[in-house]
Amino acid sequence: MNAVEIRGVSQRYGRMTVLHGLDLTLGEGEVLGLFGHNGAGKTTTMKLILGLLRASEGQVSVLGRSPNAPQVRRQLGYLPENVTFYPQLSGRETLRHFARLKGAPLGQVDELLEQVGLFDAADRRVKTYSKGMRQRLGLAQALLGQPRLLLLDEPTVGLDPIATQDLYRLIDHLRQQGTSIILCSHVLPGVEAHINRAAILAHGRLQAVGSLASLREEAGLPALIRASGLKHSRQLIQRWTAAGHAARALGEGAVEVVAVNGHKLGLLRHLLGEAEAQDIDIHQPSLEDLYRYYMERAGERNVEATA
Ligand code: ATP
Repeated sequence: MNAVEIRGVSQRYGRMTVLHGLDLTLGEGEVLGLFGHNGAGKTTTMKLILGLLRASEGQVSVLGRSPNAPQVRRQLGYLPENVTFYPQLSGRETLRHFARLKGAPLGQVDELLEQVGLFDAADRRVKTYSKGMRQRLGLAQALLGQPRLLLLDEPTVGLDPIATQDLYRLIDHLRQQGTSIILCSHVLPGVEAHINRAAILAHGRLQAVGSLASLREEAGLPALIRASGLKHSRQLIQRWTAAGHAARALGEGAVEVVAVNGHKLGLLRHLLGEAEAQDIDIHQPSLEDLYRYYMERAGERNVEATA
């Protein structure tokens, strides 16, 4: 059973359609990154999964049931984009309050405060917390009751680099324990190692979904190969340029060549063999490169559709 199944979902706010025929699934124990520009429809998708919105068309099923089923709600954890709490309550009081609302054991509160690094600040009022501390408290709140499905909307906002790394480590740990996670983020660097698949939304339409490897293959973006310690780098660049490859010098004895699909292995063989490279780096298209590619393609299609 999939943790989430979204089939043919369209969503309208009044006369405006903000999601168009969305099909998306989340497997059990899978981490899906949901990416898209401002207003692409990410939060709307989250709200449909949370049962806060009813799809104008199509079906949404969560843990095999309707998103509104009480059994489902108890197994969901949600970190909203803008976390707000009662400023007069302490961190511990806040979590105890949410634990009671959620029917989660109160014994979990201190454990979670420890896990998100707020144990020492647990008795301070939330109004004295920094943005990052409030974000961590929001995360602890989402983890109450050990949810089977976790929805994280911009979880790294306000987190410093170490807290961001800690969050990704926590996500890895939860995934190993079988938690299914959807993570929406505008911060792409660093996230790719912690997701199984990426879904890219633009203008309410799913542009691409798949593992990084499959998206790279589908997009056909070139890899960059950088080699150094070459004896005849200038001749090599001339030869490659004549053969139609985009190559340039990177300093004494170093070159960079753009390896379009189907040419990567040939170029590497050449560098390792005849060219006697001392060192080679291969830069595969990153999640950001893929995001840019799909966004530009979506922009072109959107212009064509509205022309
Ligand atoms: P962001 O990255 O800025 O948070 P998002 O991808 O989460 O954006 P949504 O919040 O899902 O985007 O919004 C999708 C579209 O729906 C936007 O055009 C937005 O203006 C519109 N929208 C969202 N909520 C409402 C609402 N309650 N009433 C009318 N329109 C809405």
